[in-house]
Amino acid sequence: MKAGLSRVKRMKNTIKALLEEGSRRLKDQGVPSARLDAEILLGAAAGLDRVLMYTEPSREISGDQVQRYEAWIARRCDFEPVAYILGHKEFMGLDFVVSPAVLIPRPDTECLVEYLLAQVLPKIQEPGAPVKILDLCTGSGAIGLSLAHYFKDSQVSLSDISAEALAVARENAVRLGLEDITFFEGDLFAPVQGSFGLVVSNPPYIPNQVIEGLSRDIKDHEPRLALSGGDSGFDIYGRIAGEAQAYLEAAGFLMLEIGDGQEKALVPMLEAQGFELTALVPDLTGTIRGVLVQNRILAG
Ligand code: GLN
Repeated sequence: MKAGLSRVKRMKNTIKALLEEGSRRLKDQGVPSARLDAEILLGAAAGLDRVLMYTEPSREISGDQVQRYEAWIARRCDFEPVAYILGHKEFMGLDFVVSPAVLIPRPDTECLVEYLLAQVLPKIQEPGAPVKILDLCTGSGAIGLSLAHYFKDSQVSLSDISAEALAVARENAVRLGLEDITFFEGDLFAPVQGSFGLVVSNPPYIPNQVIEGLSRDIKDHEPRLALSGGDSGFDIYGRIAGEAQAYLEAAGFLMLEIGDGQEKALVPMLEAQGFELTALVPDLTGTIRGVLVQNRILAG
């Protein structure tokens, strides 16, 4: 009896058994990426790389690692995003700390950052004068800190209304060894000082009603403050469009991330404020994800 029990227990603690049980629990709850998530969580809980999970399925995992894995599976069963469970998310090849106070950086947003690095920053760079960049609604700092990391001739400021988000951004700046970052805490441009060659923002832009239809990962766990653009989705865009000019250098650029189809209303809104459309930037699926405009009102 005793021997039987311990054998069952041992069986249960193999990589193979743990993965099967974890992915079954996730699947039963309707988590779409059940097997992959189980692999990521077991890998992180037990410090294993994924190849080893396949080559040594009968390897046993220690009790406290199993406990950690099972607690993480339980959190994932509640649709908590893997990035929040692990506290990290990769963006632009860099490791960012994330918490539920910040939106999890998305691969789509990388397309905007890559576009800025390849098409915009080299063009506005002038010898001896670093490009001044403001990442408005920075959250984890993913956009602004990636730009600072990959485009050294820059001076980057990050702003956010959430002190908790800004604390995450500060931690990321330190972890990435970026020492000369300026932080502004407050509502959009209210705390911001100076003028910039580039203002970039992934502001909250999802209409409230749409949020209710999003996956539980997002709806139940990511900060509403970072998602909700009011009933129309355009509350924050409207304010940015109206206020950005005062913080842009003459001929400075404004890059905004958008939701599907929002360029149709956003571009005229920006043009009405004196901006000129420079580019519509597609994401990985070819959907327009970024609107890049240039300030055409000369600073007076
Ligand atoms: N792209 C994010 C999403 O689809 C939303 C980001 C935002 O509102 N800024 O969930």
